[in-house]
Amino acid sequence: MTRRLVDGPLVVASHNNGKIAEFRELLADFPFAIASAAELDLPEPEETGTTYEANARLKALASARGSGKPSLADDSGLSVDALDGAPGIYSARWAGPDRDFAMAMRNVEEALQQAGATEPAERSARFVAVLCLAWPDGHTEEVRGEVAGTLVWPPRGDKGFGYDPMFRPDGHDRTFGEMVSEEKHAWSRGGPLGLSHRSRAFAALVEQCLGPDT
Ligand code: IMP
Repeated sequence: MTRRLVDGPLVVASHNNGKIAEFRELLADFPFAIASAAELDLPEPEETGTTYEANARLKALASARGSGKPSLADDSGLSVDALDGAPGIYSARWAGPDRDFAMAMRNVEEALQQAGATEPAERSARFVAVLCLAWPDGHTEEVRGEVAGTLVWPPRGDKGFGYDPMFRPDGHDRTFGEMVSEEKHAWSRGGPLGLSHRSRAFAALVEQCLGPDT
């Protein structure tokens, strides 16, 4: 049975400051006292799963069990069709230990060139975000959000993070790197669906199990 989290403390199960900040924005209108796994000094679990779902679940459960509080985790990445879904769950790893995304984008572009994917129609990709809300007793709720687009080269724009400058969402002329965060992530209850995979997943989470049931 679906379980809803209506109030009480919520731990954002992440050690990534960018993600924590984004969740604070998304949760701003909700009645939750928020702490992050980083602030609570919880250990960072190894991401040993082979799917976004498995990794989101293991991060959320580790935080819920470690803190004794409901915890929200996200696992996300860029799946490129011509590369059979790579880099996918390894999106962060493609940037190496220094998290060098200029290099990661070059690696994606080289792989696309090797695959002969030079025409826009051959360069389709999607950003995927899976969110998992876990309780200390082991109950979990999961949702997925996606946004489809085309990979451009060279990268464009200096906003956003990660692979944003080479991702042009369908129906738009500009890449995520050329959009302000409002445009990429904006979400409001009952309003139009947000653009990014994470805001779409968040809207699904609210619908399924987060906040007052309206
Ligand atoms: P995770 O921390 O294992 O979920 O890694 C997610 C990785 O996917 C990030 O480090 C980024 O490389 C990439 N990624 C996820 N969401 C986005 C986004 O909105 N824009 C650009 N890159 C993203």
